[in-house]
Amino acid sequence: MSRLDDFLNRITMYRLVLDYLLLLVGVAVAFSALGSLSFNPLGLLFSALFLVAVSWAANEVFARVYHVAVNNESVIISALVLSLIITPARNLYDLPFFFWAAVWAAAGKFILAFHKKHLFNPAALAVFLTAVFLGRSASWWVGSAFMFFPVLLGGWLIVRKTQREEMVGAFFLAAVLTILALNFVNGPDLVTLLSKTFLETPLLFFGFVMLTEPLTTPLTKNLRLIYGALTGFLFAPQLHFGAVYFLPEQALLLGNIFSFLVSSKDRLVLTLKERIPLGTDVYDFVFTGRGKFNYTAGQYLEWTLGHGSPDSRGVRRYFTLASSPTENDLRLGVKFAENGSSFKKALLNLSSGGEISASSLAGDFTLPRDPNTKLAFLAGGIGITPFRSMIKSLLDMADRRNVVMVYAEKEGRDFLYRDIFSAAQNLLGLKTVYSSGRFGQDLIRREIPDYKERLFYLSGPRAMVDSFQKILLDLRVAKDRIKTDFFPGF
Ligand SMILES: Cc1cc2nc3c(=O)[nH]c(=O)nc-3n(C[C@H](O)[C@H](O)[C@H](O)COP(=O)(O)OP(=O)(O)OC[C@H]3O[C@@H](n4cnc5c(N)ncnc54)[C@H](O)[C@@H]3O)c2cc1C
Repeated sequence: MSRLDDFLNRITMYRLVLDYLLLLVGVAVAFSALGSLSFNPLGLLFSALFLVAVSWAANEVFARVYHVAVNNESVIISALVLSLIITPARNLYDLPFFFWAAVWAAAGKFILAFHKKHLFNPAALAVFLTAVFLGRSASWWVGSAFMFFPVLLGGWLIVRKTQREEMVGAFFLAAVLTILALNFVNGPDLVTLLSKTFLETPLLFFGFVMLTEPLTTPLTKNLRLIYGALTGFLFAPQLHFGAVYFLPEQALLLGNIFSFLVSSKDRLVLTLKERIPLGTDVYDFVFTGRGKFNYTAGQYLEWTLGHGSPDSRGVRRYFTLASSPTENDLRLGVKFAENGSSFKKALLNLSSGGEISASSLAGDFTLPRDPNTKLAFLAGGIGITPFRSMIKSLLDMADRRNVVMVYAEKEGRDFLYRDIFSAAQNLLGLKTVYSSGRFGQDLIRREIPDYKERLFYLSGPRAMVDSFQKILLDLRVAKDRIKTDFFPGF
């Protein structure tokens, strides 16, 4: 694993974004002091602090009214985003604008929410409302040539951490193509147009920071691509419908509406039936209360577990359903770390009969429609959960498919769900290879000699999936024959 990936694995997403925004504000203060940016450095600093203070107070009030826990990092993030898109205050008369922007960003999170998840990017909603009700708009001043390099470098880290390279790529591509098309006749030459677009518009900041906000992006890859492309198209500064010109915040809000419309609205309230220890630090959690809820083997849900004093990682997590749709109960296989999050501690302490809610079903890491496709599953560690789901479903449906599975674990660790895999071996001819040694090309060549004919499914922690993928690409397996499922710790 590279040093960069190691760093990104250790830092939480919220912490990374927060540090990045603090750095941008610091850089802007320094450039203002040097005279490169035309702001008063103290005015800029004061504006940022004022926004943080009002946001914090407003969030506290709303959190009490709505009985919801606040993630302080995300409160500061919204305030700092506002400070980078609203021109710093020049005098006290500017303060009502700042005050209402901070209050509306907080209000939007609590009021315009579905299943306790906000629908709109809070900063974009806030500046949209200030434009409508106060007649004061965001200037998006962070889109300046002086801010280009810091925005680009930190932004790229965020995209890598959140694994949203394709969505953000689709956004940039759609925005640039739309800008080029709108300037095709009578526009400046290509180099001028591109440099203006990247150096003098908020394109980069918008794409890296605002578009990637996790709660307002769709959950599946294809929908995320559409979301990125749609928002990019609407972002183009000269785009207008009649006399209405699109501002960046409006582009994002429309993208958020798309995201909401295409997301699953099911919400389950489940009851813990059983907690089963599977190995030293892995447990299965079996829940009842599924009702008529339908899903496809290999999909995941977003799980919300309210608990006292949640840490900065909050009260929500994604977990793959390790159960098969053919089973009555829902099952999770969860791995626990030594100094684990407050969420995991609360989950581990959940007693039988305790409740948890789950929503936002998603995932395209599912079996192909064609039953004749030859498959190869490569699982690393806890990444075995979607394969338990798929193989149990094949077993229950007596669906005989040509599958080879290689299940890799670190030396001395337990292999999970062996009973299901050996039943599938006996009844369906599934071949399972348990590997705790070196995982390399030799293993694939030896155990899956027809690997060129198979569709590969790779699942596990990011570093493992990356290394499986590299081995396959080195063996000249085509990229479109490899499906991946990462388990990142956001
Ligand atoms: C689509 C999808 C499906 C997934 N499916 C599964 C699944 O089936 N099973 C599964 O186990 N996971 C799954 N995950 C991963 C899961 O959602 C969690 O992100 C992951 O387990 C990490 O959990 P955690 O944040 O609670 O941290 P923990 O697992 O508790 O800890 C992970 C590391 O972070 C450190 N840490 C913990 N809290 C903090 C903190 N507040 N600040 C800084 N560091 C901290 C710990 O010390 C440890 O080193 C899936 C993820 C995705 C996106």
